[in-house]
Amino acid sequence: MDCLFCKLVAGEIPAKIRHENNDYIAFDDISPKASTHVLIIPRAHHQDLEGFVRDTPEESAKMLTFVTDTAEKIGIAGGFRLITNNGSRGGQEVFHIHWHLLAGDTLPGF
Ligand code: AMP
Repeated sequence: MDCLFCKLVAGEIPAKIRHENNDYIAFDDISPKASTHVLIIPRAHHQDLEGFVRDTPEESAKMLTFVTDTAEKIGIAGGFRLITNNGSRGGQEVFHIHWHLLAGDTLPGF
């Protein structure tokens, strides 16, 4: 499968890894939109949030726990934004589910 983030999981493309366990990886976004911009992905391939929840509903709480553990580990607990773009009409460009974990002074308002 020609999936960028599966290649990253396999170590075929480099990443600045900030936190990982057997199931998830957090790494710096290559084009950060805020002073902290980390992407969080499952090692297993799921196309988007809808696919992830449909395929593995029991994983949702574990993934969010990994997100908050990552926030704690990188020093942004208590002040961050979490976004996932779902589908091309939702702005998704890489079709392996990922959460954008953003923090810092440059966060745009909604
Ligand atoms: P999305 O539009 O939600 O699919 O977001 C895809 C994100 O992946 C963008 O913020 C990109 O900057 C980021 N990205 C693309 N290639 C890489 C890479 N090799 N390493 C880290 N982040 C990447």
